[in-house]
Amino acid sequence: MNMMTDTAAAAAATAAAEASPTVESSLTLRDEMLAAGLLIDTGENGLYGRSQIFEDVLEGLNTAITHLGRDQEPEVLRFPPAMRRTDFEDSEYLKSFPHLAGTIHSFCGNDMGHRRLLTALDDAMAERDDDRSDAWMEQQKPTRIVLTPAACYPIYPVMARRGALPAGGRTVDVLSYCFRHEPSLDPGRMQMFRMREYVRLGSPEQVMAFRQMWIERGSLLVKLLQLPVEIDLANDPFFGRGGKIVADSQRAQALKFELLIPVADPRGKTACLSFNYHMDHFGALWKIPCEDGAVAHTGCVGFGMERITLALFRHHGLDVNAWPDDVRALLWGDTGTRIAQAMQTMQAPAAAGDGA
Ligand code: AMP
Ligand code: ZN
Repeated sequence: MNMMTDTAAAAAATAAAEASPTVESSLTLRDEMLAAGLLIDTGENGLYGRSQIFEDVLEGLNTAITHLGRDQEPEVLRFPPAMRRTDFEDSEYLKSFPHLAGTIHSFCGNDMGHRRLLTALDDAMAERDDDRSDAWMEQQKPTRIVLTPAACYPIYPVMARRGALPAGGRTVDVLSYCFRHEPSLDPGRMQMFRMREYVRLGSPEQVMAFRQMWIERGSLLVKLLQLPVEIDLANDPFFGRGGKIVADSQRAQALKFELLIPVADPRGKTACLSFNYHMDHFGALWKIPCEDGAVAHTGCVGFGMERITLALFRHHGLDVNAWPDDVRALLWGDTGTRIAQAMQTMQAPAAAGDGA
């Protein structure tokens, strides 16, 4: 049982660190981020407020990602962090990740139902937070919308309604708060977080080339942020006993890669960017044809906005004014010029190689 609120625990840890500087190294990144006011405790693991400084970093990062993808001329689409329940059902998300999904319920009853709700609520409020009954929720009914699990999910039905893809396929730029029910003390594992994605729809060759390009560009961005880069084969956390087989098959087909950075977990690294190839999974589900009538293949690169932001605080310290000049300039200075130059330099050796 939680004997101390997170805020109290952070305050105690900070006090201990002040009393004895050697204790400081035992403070977790979460403690430090909360104590510095960069993240704000809501009392619920994985649900945080963000300070102005945290948002400034995340926004700088967002601008850099825009410059990194500008030459692809993506279609920019923004959705609220929810999607139609029927679209969510059709997506087969519940087959793979029932444990992560979040549904939205609302009171849809009559006066009698309202009275029941208020009685149950009175009973609940007589108890301490952790012991409260959720009986009032019996009066709640599912709405027609659910929380978005990944930023790219809302776009497939939209693309399907447009009919066949143009010859070059499509590239879409999305950003959304996403929900995943995975409460954790690791600040890198939030329940609500932002995912920026570029999504490619087209032929298998177009999607594979897109994914390779983004592995290179994502690595470039992380290097420019002066963070360590490690790319590894990965799998999604498929649910249940059958999930292991699906995960193994995803690995065997090399469908998912991740860019890993040490963030808050002392035992390992955290996936901060993902590079996914869905093959024709979404194309077939939503019936998205290519120009030639073949089922569209899709893929996406996902930037975990909070995770990259946390990685910057972890590696460069909590005081953004003391961050390396080049990192500050990339985030808040001549972002576009720096990205363009770095991309030119990255492409130059390849071009020289082509000529040889
Ligand atoms: P995924 O769809 O699982 O590949 O997620 C895309 C990206 O979102 C990952 O590479 C992470 O950077 C980020 N992400 C995934 N889950 C979480 C989470 N629980 N909290 C914060 N960021 C996350
Ligand atoms: Zn995606």
